[in-house]
Amino acid sequence: MENIDITIVGAGSAGLTLALLLAPLGLSIVVLEQGDAPNSTLTNPQRVSALNLASQRVLNHVGAWQAIAANARSYNAMQVWDADSFARIEFNAQTERLEQLGWICDNEQIRMALYQQLQPFNNVRCEFNCTINSLVQSERDVLVNINQQHLLLSRLLVGADGVNSMVRRTMQLPLTHWDYQQQAIVGTIICDEPHNNIARQVFLPDGPLALLPLPQPNQCSIVWSCAPERAAALLAMDDLSFSQALTAASNSVLGPINIQTPRQSFNLTMRYSSSWQRGRVVLVADAAHSIHPLAGQGMNLGLMDVAALAELISEALADNNDFSESRLLRRYERWRKAEAQTLIGAMEVFKRGFSNTQPLLKLVRAVSMSGVDKLPWLKSKIIAAALGNSGDLPKLAQPQVKTAHSA
Ligand SMILES: Cc1cc2nc3c(=O)[nH]c(=O)nc-3n(C[C@H](O)[C@H](O)[C@H](O)COP(=O)(O)OP(=O)(O)OC[C@H]3O[C@@H](n4cnc5c(N)ncnc54)[C@H](O)[C@@H]3O)c2cc1C
Repeated sequence: MENIDITIVGAGSAGLTLALLLAPLGLSIVVLEQGDAPNSTLTNPQRVSALNLASQRVLNHVGAWQAIAANARSYNAMQVWDADSFARIEFNAQTERLEQLGWICDNEQIRMALYQQLQPFNNVRCEFNCTINSLVQSERDVLVNINQQHLLLSRLLVGADGVNSMVRRTMQLPLTHWDYQQQAIVGTIICDEPHNNIARQVFLPDGPLALLPLPQPNQCSIVWSCAPERAAALLAMDDLSFSQALTAASNSVLGPINIQTPRQSFNLTMRYSSSWQRGRVVLVADAAHSIHPLAGQGMNLGLMDVAALAELISEALADNNDFSESRLLRRYERWRKAEAQTLIGAMEVFKRGFSNTQPLLKLVRAVSMSGVDKLPWLKSKIIAAALGNSGDLPKLAQPQVKTAHSA
């Protein structure tokens, strides 16, 4: 049996970032991942995420940002419009005196950059392609059985194992969930017109379509959320018919479009665990909450979770306190739950507001959207929230924090 300080289940963006945040504290950490080690050799991005300034600060602090940014595209404007009315709104970095509003980053490149930064730390080990056969906790420790071969005893176990979290299920942490009744189709496209570093999103009657700029001037990533029947029809189409449907849905804003990669699809479900911790086990990121991708906030929210947890653990160590005690974990839970609940609520308002085809509501939303577009102070507030510059941020994510080993 091996005794360590912290087990992290899941080597996604949240698990690897947490390992990197905790590594300099000298704790012994094992990251357990059921899948493969990160692989950045794929030529076209499979999945991307829009990361905001707060996430960039955290990833910069852990030294991974330079490698991520080298494969990312910053965007300096965001255009959002309603396919069904005159409603339109545009956010611009220049009017906010910013260089960019965010970055579109390849998920696998994020994992790769984080994994590479972990290599110099002898106190952190990642195990890939492993199966957790059992997970039990006593008052003092958590024991996991890996591959029916190896017993790992740790003082704290973090569930960073995504939307279908095994840790959440095993600990019987209660889950509230509802189906958004939409599927998201994801892929990479080539378009005739350059994207000009603008992120675009059109609200169609059955869901939003996002066109996110990639490093090549004529290449974008799409997230097309629509009703399951429509998604099934779109997935069944050949590439040419799908590309034509996409060109029409985007109102040819980027000219004719050609799909470049196989399409992937995701069921969209809101999940929220009403308890994020039990004893010495705690959940972070998608294991604790997952939201609709329409505002591109899921990964950003998860990175703030791990920055918050790392901050509290670091403070406990500095004060010679137990870093795995439930009082600390409850404090983390209260802090981050408030932020997650705000976003879940906002996503619901957006989704319901834009999927309603009732004529009066359509008029109200068109007037509201165009009204907001003419109110600079309100737009600045919305941008601050989207950039991650509002709310109760962990110290590392706050603007203008000088860090020990930032790039
Ligand atoms: C279509 C779509 C578009 C999105 N766009 C954006 C966006 O633009 N911006 C944004 O911020 N967010 C976006 N998101 C959300 C974002 O992708 C997630 O919030 C983020 O990837 C979650 O990271 P995570 O590390 O919590 O989970 P994951 O990335 O799911 O990682 C969990 C890891 O745990 C591993 N694992 C699972 N079970 C086990 C087990 N039993 N044992 C060991 N390992 C296990 C998995 O293999 C995986 O590697 C989007 C989501 C979707 C679906």
